[in-house]
Amino acid sequence: MKILVINCGSSSLKFQLIDSDSEAVICKGLCERIGIEGSQIVYTPAGKDKITKVEPMPDHNRAIELVIEALTNAENGVVKLEEIGAVGHRIVHGGEKFTKSVIINDEVIKAIEDVSDLAPLHNPANLIGIRACQKVMPGVPMVAVFDTAFHQTMPQDAYLYGLPYSYYEKYGIRRYGFHGTSHSFVSKRAAEILGKDAKDLKMIVCHLGNGASLSAVDGGKCIDTSMGLTPLEGLIMGTRTGDIDPSVVEFIMKKENSSVADVTNLLNKKSGVFGLSDELSSDFRDLEAGYNDGHAGARRAVDTFVYRVVKYIGSYTAAMGGVDVICFTAGVGENSGFVRKLICDRLGFIGAKIDVEANKVRGEEKTISTADSKVTLLVVPTNEELAIARDTYALCK
Ligand code: AMP
Repeated sequence: MKILVINCGSSSLKFQLIDSDSEAVICKGLCERIGIEGSQIVYTPAGKDKITKVEPMPDHNRAIELVIEALTNAENGVVKLEEIGAVGHRIVHGGEKFTKSVIINDEVIKAIEDVSDLAPLHNPANLIGIRACQKVMPGVPMVAVFDTAFHQTMPQDAYLYGLPYSYYEKYGIRRYGFHGTSHSFVSKRAAEILGKDAKDLKMIVCHLGNGASLSAVDGGKCIDTSMGLTPLEGLIMGTRTGDIDPSVVEFIMKKENSSVADVTNLLNKKSGVFGLSDELSSDFRDLEAGYNDGHAGARRAVDTFVYRVVKYIGSYTAAMGGVDVICFTAGVGENSGFVRKLICDRLGFIGAKIDVEANKVRGEEKTISTADSKVTLLVVPTNEELAIARDTYALCK
């Protein structure tokens, strides 16, 4: 079956067409600046050069039409419309309602709407993507795959904030966690690589990308993760603060005479390693170069980022009563031997030893711990689109 995977943002739409038998990517691409001037679709059919088309996209319906046109056109199309057997949608927030992927029907759409106040930027965009696909591909089954679902096994101790309990009951204010599709994919794959049953392993998955989160996976189940009600909590990220004293918000508002919206924007878009490096960059390639050149901001940003990751690894080791495997994934985790080494060099307290030669790996599965390391250190590339396609196929086949 050919599965179309859609990841719809407020002004962008990423897509991949995946063959469920071979799990090969037949075509992948991106619609940018939807609803904004200068929109374009950029896509790459497998084995061919990248194609860019500048096209007006007043809304997501037009974007989906252009995706279908790109996939099916006579000149360089890769599929007939009727061959697309199902569509898998990445949905950011499933609240407490969704603990696994589901076939989309009216009830599911209503439930996604109901939790939209928990992800006011993302869920409405995801819903627009669903409706646009329903319009262009009526009758094709669709599946919702939630970023929060994998973390729904967290126990209450891990997901509650120290707020009055009634705020959890009334408004659902609790920790949910994100990147769940990635944490699930990587933890399962790590068990496969090691030839072990996930039930017998205590793992920490470090998803270190532009957005970054850790999860503690005990016996195959997530028992804690670093993101919270929103993806702002936890690690220091590309441009997000991660954990911060909430009083900082009011303090900045008074000092800078700014609004809640201004400070929220600051915490999400101007902070993290970008802010700490004096706006040198949010990209770890630039930060590594700056670090090696002795750029004070780059050093401050990288060292603070690494310290936070190590602190979380320590706390998750305590939460699980030990750790057998630590996995590195996403843009930084998969590609930056530099960052991995800085982290692992501080993990001697759990007996983890990095193999410097093996750690040269980039974007491939590899064990990067030494033979005598007490903890297995692994690089496991994530593949959220494939995970979405697998769930979609499993529910629609
Ligand atoms: P992601 O959000 O998973 O797509 O990760 C994107 C981030 O990965 C970029 O912002 C970079 O910081 C980082 N990245 C990608 N390639 C490399 C590399 N070769 N070395 C260091 N960082 C990288």
